[in-house]
Amino acid sequence: MNNELVLDLINQAKNIANQNFCCKYSNFTVGAALLCQDGSIYTGFNIENDGIQAICAERSTFAKALTDGQKDFTAIAVVARKLDDQLFSKTLPCGYCRQFLSEYTKPDFKIYTYDDQENKIYSYTIAELLPESFKF
Ligand SMILES: [Zn+2]
Repeated sequence: MNNELVLDLINQAKNIANQNFCCKYSNFTVGAALLCQDGSIYTGFNIENDGIQAICAERSTFAKALTDGQKDFTAIAVVARKLDDQLFSKTLPCGYCRQFLSEYTKPDFKIYTYDDQENKIYSYTIAELLPESFKF
């Protein structure tokens, strides 16, 4: 995947994170941009509510794509920042999301994150983030 496309995904993840009005408890906004094999890109952010059933940005993004009929995925960019801080920091999927991603993607599915202070892109595969994943 070329750098231009990776940067586009990261920027789309940042843009949706900057529009997040649903992180009232953590004040930690997470944005994700998911690239599908057909080239389409879906974005989403973390959604919190009064219960404990918050939805992470990765899964809210996948929910949009899956309900739209998408089945094959190439990569996701995930970025996050505190609401009182304009800088995004390196953020990787939580354990629950890693399991979710491993079930809906192939082992070489890429996860990108970005750190503003370091001005650095980090890149992983889901197999690296969740080796020996649970499967029936
Ligand atoms: Zn998560």
